[in-house]
Amino acid sequence: MKKIVFATNNAHKLQEMRQMIGNDFEVLSLSDIGCHEDIPETSPSIEGNARQKACYVKEHYGYDCFSDDTGLEIDALGGEPGVRSARYAGDDHNSEHNIDKVLLKLGDRKDRTARFRTAIALIEGERITIFEGKVEGNILTERHGEGGFGYDSIFAPVEADGLTFAQMTAQEKNAISHRGRATRKLIAYLLGK
Ligand code: IMP
Repeated sequence: MKKIVFATNNAHKLQEMRQMIGNDFEVLSLSDIGCHEDIPETSPSIEGNARQKACYVKEHYGYDCFSDDTGLEIDALGGEPGVRSARYAGDDHNSEHNIDKVLLKLGDRKDRTARFRTAIALIEGERITIFEGKVEGNILTERHGEGGFGYDSIFAPVEADGLTFAQMTAQEKNAISHRGRATRKLIAYLLGK
């Protein structure tokens, strides 16, 4: 089976990606290639961060690879947390604190529309290709569900009748999620080669 490096050590993302891509490629993580450091993510855009991570791995480890970056954009907060989604409440990347901050800032506002956007950057030699996916939804007023990760328990996609990503199976989430959509474009590209 062909191998491909996914520039992440996030176990949840890796699991989601392996479920989607796993029959076509063996997906290796950063630790599988001996990369254990924090890769810089200093770009002002999710696409820039995805590029930065993929280029870092290529430059330091020599592998062609792909990386992803995701942002949650909440309209009533002017697009926050956006590119700062991971460290919205502080540099410890604590998802519970991030959710608390979102819920506090939204309070009892009625306009709670939001979207997840993912950019995947694939680097092959010198060539970089970007694949994007997004899903529209609403931020609930409290957490629902135990599954998933990050902001999943407060995000209800419009397609899902009020259920949050955290109340879905991995397959149900992947079928409509930002990362699922971007990943299917990546897979189609890789298989079309
Ligand atoms: P990252 O920079 O792509 O790792 O993600 C930025 C932030 O968005 C992190 O806090 C993640 O927990 C969160 N995030 C990324 N993907 C998802 C998702 O599929 N559901 C919920 N939160 C996510």
